[in-house]
Amino acid sequence: MKKECLECREKFHGRADKKFCSAHCRSVYNNRRNRDFNNFMRNINNILRKNRRILADANTTGKTRVHRDKLMEQGFKFAYFTNEYVTKAGRVYRFCYDQGYIETENGYLTLVVRQEYVE
Ligand SMILES: [Zn+2]
Repeated sequence: MKKECLECREKFHGRADKKFCSAHCRSVYNNRRNRDFNNFMRNINNILRKNRRILADANTTGKTRVHRDKLMEQGFKFAYFTNEYVTKAGRVYRFCYDQGYIETENGYLTLVVRQEYVE
C-alpha cells in the first residue's frame, strides 16, 4: 500500500497503520510535536505565574480593593486562572494558585489570599 510519510512526505510502502517511512522520521516528528506542546505549556505556566505575582504585589493588605484596569496595565490576563471558588450565595472567586480575587462593582476587585489547598 502506497503511503505518504508524515514527516518527509516521501511515498513509501507499508502497512495501513504505518505513518512514517523510517524510525528516523518518526522520531523527528514526535520530538517536534513534544517540543511544541512543551512550549505551549510553558507559555501558559508563565502567564499563570505572572498573574499570581501581579495579584500578590497588588494585595498589600491581604484584602485589597483594586480596579481591574490597574491589573491589566501590568499585563494581567483575566482568561487565565488555576481554579474557581463559588460561594453558597453564588459569588465567584478566581484564583491563580493562592492569590485570588472577586469582582465587586464598577470594575473593582477585592483581592484575597487563600492559605489552604481545596480540591
Ligand atoms: Zn520520512
